[in-house]
Amino acid sequence: MEQIAENLQKIKLQLLDNVKLVAVSKVKPNEDIMAAYHAGQRLFGENYVQELVQKYEQLPKDIQWHFIGHLQTNKVKYIIPFVSCIQSIDTPKLLAEVNRLAAKHNRTVDVLLQFHIAEESSKFGFSMQEVQDMFRAQAPEAFDSVRICGVMGMGTFTEDMTQVRREFKTLHSYFDELKRSFFAQADYFKEISMGMTDDYLTAQQEGSTMVRIGSAIFGKRIYNKQ
Ligand SMILES: *Cc1c(COP(=O)(O)O)cnc(C)c1O
Repeated sequence: MEQIAENLQKIKLQLLDNVKLVAVSKVKPNEDIMAAYHAGQRLFGENYVQELVQKYEQLPKDIQWHFIGHLQTNKVKYIIPFVSCIQSIDTPKLLAEVNRLAAKHNRTVDVLLQFHIAEESSKFGFSMQEVQDMFRAQAPEAFDSVRICGVMGMGTFTEDMTQVRREFKTLHSYFDELKRSFFAQADYFKEISMGMTDDYLTAQQEGSTMVRIGSAIFGKRIYNKQ
């Protein structure tokens, strides 16, 4: 448990002041989350709907939960009452459904647009063309129960940091282009969520405002449902 506090401390010392740390606690038990909580961490990321709902119910209510995994439209209803940000919006249909259910719950929910920047075909996410088409069909303001706060992406799982850096640069350029075309007046459109355990320093150098770190805080995940 002390190890978790120590890991957090070490990572925070490496992060610039404007970079938020999402502690990715998927598949980790509540006691690990509480160790991070007692070390001051309040922002956590989860990938699985059922697991997130359970943790939300059992853990302190001042935790901000970010959903970062692939989200099916028929599961939005379980997390919409409490989730603080959905980082993994990857289709127009999902954005519309999150907007619809947020309105129903009288909430405004923060979201990020997930882009496919990695070489692996398994990773979810929009292409730039898809997002441009979506907002040309329906302006971002039409989604009035969400705040579209920026972009999210995952680099390729590789040792080749040159490639990962290139992918992060691409995500940054998508952010800039969207900001210019659709969000120039929206001061909340400011987040670039990129960087995980193996690449967060590279991501920070490329302008990340939010890193999502699991293993470096909580240790290796023993099993992985994905
Ligand atoms: C699991 C996961 C992370 C954290 O991964 P680590 O390599 O353990 O830091 C970050 N982002 C997403 C989308 C994830 O699924």
